[in-house]
Amino acid sequence: MYDVRPPEVYAHESVMVNPAYRARVEKVAAALKEPRKIITYSDADLPGMIREKGLLAGRGIMFGRSPVNDPMLLFNTFRFDGEADLGERRKALEACGLEWAPNSLLGTGAFIWFDSNLETDKHKDDKVCRPCWRIHMQAGCLHRCTYCSLGGLLVAMVNVEDYCRHLRGLIERHPWQTTYLLDDDADPPCLEPELGVLGPLIEFFGTLKDRYLIIHTKTWNTEWMRNLRHNGNTIIVWSLSGPTQSTLVEPNTGTTEQRVEAARVAQEAGYQIRYKFKPIVPVKAWRDDAAYAVKLLFEKTRPDVISLCMFMWNSYPEMTGMLDMGLLDPEFVQAAEKSQAEMAGTRSRPFPHEMRKKVYDHYLAEIRKYDRAIPVSLSTENFRMWAAMKESLGCTAADYVCGCGPQCVPGLKKLRCHPFKAAFRNDRGLVPCVQAGC
Ligand code: SF4
Repeated sequence: MYDVRPPEVYAHESVMVNPAYRARVEKVAAALKEPRKIITYSDADLPGMIREKGLLAGRGIMFGRSPVNDPMLLFNTFRFDGEADLGERRKALEACGLEWAPNSLLGTGAFIWFDSNLETDKHKDDKVCRPCWRIHMQAGCLHRCTYCSLGGLLVAMVNVEDYCRHLRGLIERHPWQTTYLLDDDADPPCLEPELGVLGPLIEFFGTLKDRYLIIHTKTWNTEWMRNLRHNGNTIIVWSLSGPTQSTLVEPNTGTTEQRVEAARVAQEAGYQIRYKFKPIVPVKAWRDDAAYAVKLLFEKTRPDVISLCMFMWNSYPEMTGMLDMGLLDPEFVQAAEKSQAEMAGTRSRPFPHEMRKKVYDHYLAEIRKYDRAIPVSLSTENFRMWAAMKESLGCTAADYVCGCGPQCVPGLKKLRCHPFKAAFRNDRGLVPCVQAGC
């Protein structure tokens, strides 16, 4: 696992009373370079831990925080209990001044319904993402990307056997969803193999027919995955970036070379691998950095799809609080600043359409130097960009394959059915599941 120096290590009492869960936590604690006592807590202790111990004080965008330390580690269990018990826990946390209580501290949020482009989606029609279930085992991260707010606290859930039992029921109810993205708010391999949670989840998917786990990561840490019984049912997607971004903007992640090497190891072990250039931060050397990373990935690995997505979902002022403007290509900074009014109505801000397209055209040209046929798609982009690039990409917003789409099984070239029409939520009567954003 990573060299992590957490200021505190907490474990919920439901973890410590179970010998198997407790063993997981003790193994992580034993691997820390600086030993830490495991502090057992109960739900009743949480308000005090938040108020007096600053449990959530390290959350928030990491850029500009000096220094950024490793997060506290907190081990918890999903409770899979009724709404009444969950409501009580939520009330207790909100009473201590939180606007919303994090799912991971409440022991909920194992499975979250992402209603993208359905009637309930308040950003409907402004991004092409597909509706689906997303699954969670962690919240928080060790990687310190400057634009990210997931530092300060890493919560890891440890009751993976119980989790897989409930997940099986959810999967059986949703035959249209063939892939399941894990942890879009964490980077799951960081505490492995000591934590011993990701391996059982991979092996659970290995027992299923035509159902796939998707792990999205910036890690270097895959050597331990070699001997798992994954049965070809786990897809690992690397967010890849060039040398400037991977070292200066994403400082604790694997470097460009380390991520590609980790992907090569995973590929050698039989996992399907993929890449997303996401988020693409337009650093001064963005053209050369893109060319370098694309060349390297094709020299070492054979992904089945590559997706592209500019840094987005933030206004110009928000971006200035997330990235070192001195690293960026001034043409992009000026374009973002000037186009604030034009970009106010879209989540694809801050960079205007033509600037984002210029970057995508460059990446596509670099990719096509090495592979004429690999599917290339735009991840999270808007429908206007897709309309502008559908000829050059050879697919549309309705049929493209991407790194983590809910029907994007290994080797697929185009979707076989419309992803918005195929999605049907059918979890009534199952364990409490959660709507995205709650
Ligand atoms: S790898 Fe992802 S979750 Fe981790 S700090 Fe970077 S952006 Fe955040």
